[in-house]
Amino acid sequence: MSEFSGKRILVLGAGISGISVAEVLREQGASVTLSDAREEAAIGRDFDKLRAAGIALALGRQDEALLREIDCVVLSPGVSIYSPLVEAAQMQGIEVISEVEVAYRLCPAPIVAITGTNGKTTTTTLVGEMIKAAGREVVVGGNIGLALSHEVKGVSPNGLVVAEISSFQLESVVNFRPFIAAILNLTPDHIDRHRTVAAYQAMKERIFENQASGDYLILNYDDAVVRDMATRTKSQAVYFSRLNELPSGVFVRKDMITMKWQDETVPICYTRDMKLLGAHNVENALAACACAYFAGVSPRHMAEVLSTFSGVEHRIEPVATLNGVTYYNDSKATNPESSIKALEAFPGHIILIAGGRDKHTDLTDFMSLIKAKVDHLILIGEAQERFKQAALAHGVVNIHLAKSFEAAVNLAHRLAKAPQVVLLSPACASYDMFKNYEERGRVFKNLVRQLR
Ligand code: ADP
Repeated sequence: MSEFSGKRILVLGAGISGISVAEVLREQGASVTLSDAREEAAIGRDFDKLRAAGIALALGRQDEALLREIDCVVLSPGVSIYSPLVEAAQMQGIEVISEVEVAYRLCPAPIVAITGTNGKTTTTTLVGEMIKAAGREVVVGGNIGLALSHEVKGVSPNGLVVAEISSFQLESVVNFRPFIAAILNLTPDHIDRHRTVAAYQAMKERIFENQASGDYLILNYDDAVVRDMATRTKSQAVYFSRLNELPSGVFVRKDMITMKWQDETVPICYTRDMKLLGAHNVENALAACACAYFAGVSPRHMAEVLSTFSGVEHRIEPVATLNGVTYYNDSKATNPESSIKALEAFPGHIILIAGGRDKHTDLTDFMSLIKAKVDHLILIGEAQERFKQAALAHGVVNIHLAKSFEAAVNLAHRLAKAPQVVLLSPACASYDMFKNYEERGRVFKNLVRQLR
């Protein structure tokens, strides 16, 4: 049993993480209440299993009465520390911790934690694969799949945990101390929730606040804000850089990913041998190699993964090659910045399917790149008309408006000739036509597989 047994705990937020952590805490012998501002019907999950496990449910209206006789409040990532109930708990001196903090306190194994604005899932997955290739027991979790507190149950003290950590999950950590932490990059994001860019940055920095001199902090040298964090840590800062050969750290030298640490210089893998496409993925690979190095993975095992791993689903994911034309599913690209990364990953001759629910962000850079690299632009969804006007304003010529998603895929198929590629990278949300980007990506893959 753990420090949670016998405690009276209020879990806020009945999403995947909230439900998982409620179950985990109940198993630990805590008396647990799970609360959400939404009614049971609106959440649309089956709560009978939780009831059967003896978890009390408080769904619908939330007020301070919920805090009566509570020892600890656990927040799922969807619940802000600025919400009135959380502020009330803090005023009353009740301990408030995040789901990730619960995971940390229950975890018997060392943790490698990865955060940043972009590239978290890819880098976390790479590190997990590298440790697995080295034959060591590993569990991967966090923002990926099930809640971290659930995943850590299955690991032994000899294993390792690789965790993808969002800024939300860092809002209420207390003791959380990964022995390796990585910060990939930092661009303004989620400012609606964190209120200011400074607050968002401060939240990301909490990933290393409890680290000590024997721990490692992997930082992106090419990102000035992230680079500067080395001055604020007690752990050993290790830089990675795609653009500069560093005196120490991980960098690219004549196309070779190279690790230089203390007296050792280790060649790992040529970037041209990497299966992942795009400069952004070179950065993810560099960060992953740094994490893996300090986790004891040999360069051979790192190279093995880099030369075979073709990416996480829906991120420039190769689907099929028909008549020399490869189809890529990049449904995860829900804003122009992400789609720009995908366009940059190809030399040109792209047939691009874009559009969906418009986020009304600036399209200037996106359309300039389309003009340079895209042979045919096929537009779908609610964003069609605005994207078309922006494309015309940038001198893009081959613009097609598709009546449906299926029509877009069929048109791409009719137009495409090698060496062209077909890329679904919508730069838009999916909610006008799909449940989420995952469904959009799966539908795309099914349509592609039915071609020929
Ligand atoms: P996250 O988990 O942080 O959302 P992912 O690995 O799922 O990151 O990648 C999501 C998208 O972010 C990718 O499709 C790509 O467009 C972009 N991206 C990935 N890695 C990077 C990076 N290192 N720098 C900038 N953008 C990136």
